[in-house]
Amino acid sequence: MTEQPARRLLLVHAHPDDESINNGATMAKYAAEGARVTLVTCTLGEHGEVIPPQLRHLTGAALGAHRLAELTAAMRELGVEDFRLLGGKGRYEDSGMMGIADNDDPASLWQADVDDAARALVEVILEVRPQVLVTYDPDGGYGHPDHIQTHRIAMRAAELAAGAGWEIPKIYWNRVPRTVAEQAFARLQVDLPALPFGKAATVADVPGVVEDERITTVIDGTAHGAAKAAAMRAHATQIDVAEPYFALSNELAQPLFTTEYYELAHGEPAARPESDLFAGLAPQEAS
Ligand SMILES: [Zn+2]
Repeated sequence: MTEQPARRLLLVHAHPDDESINNGATMAKYAAEGARVTLVTCTLGEHGEVIPPQLRHLTGAALGAHRLAELTAAMRELGVEDFRLLGGKGRYEDSGMMGIADNDDPASLWQADVDDAARALVEVILEVRPQVLVTYDPDGGYGHPDHIQTHRIAMRAAELAAGAGWEIPKIYWNRVPRTVAEQAFARLQVDLPALPFGKAATVADVPGVVEDERITTVIDGTAHGAAKAAAMRAHATQIDVAEPYFALSNELAQPLFTTEYYELAHGEPAARPESDLFAGLAPQEAS
């Protein structure tokens, strides 16, 4: 068996850009520390709205190919070498926002059989043997069908992998503590006139916001904030960055967090709060 880094982190996301927005600082930090960081992205985001006018002609498969190139560039910025598409390129397509006709496309992730999709992820889990899995909460953070389905697939894959020889000791969901979000949006109101965005988003627009007491783990990625911002910039069809803020295609400014927050959904927290996703793992789990 090939030699594996002692610490192995697997992240499962719906579209190219979600990883950089949610976990960019965390991914850069652990990659810089020599951990193996593996990203599995479930779709190429073929139905994403494109921000730059000169790229708005890109739709469907052409947009997917472009977003794969953006993802590749983003991973270079974060120092992450191992990134994959669930089931291989083109296996699952973007389902679009909840309630649109694309949700019913048989090729969409929303229509995928969860067990089938999970089995594709189990192969990755058994190969990488991660101690830590990061994904979304059951609502997908904000109700996008691909994010909800990604949660289901990741959690089911962890269950199936446990029965097939590798139980992932710690599973985390992406979170933002409510008071952190509120304070950041208060600062945003002050800074807004100087930003290239006309309006501000609100706390309700941020995925995964919960009451502070649910946060188990705080990853200080300040040292990797520049890498995170560069990775987000690489997703130029989807994100406009003006540090320390950014906007999606709705052009509403929101904070760019370089400290990232998690809720431990499976496993034992080593402290409260933890400052390391791998905290408390027994040596045999970390080798
Ligand atoms: Zn997404």
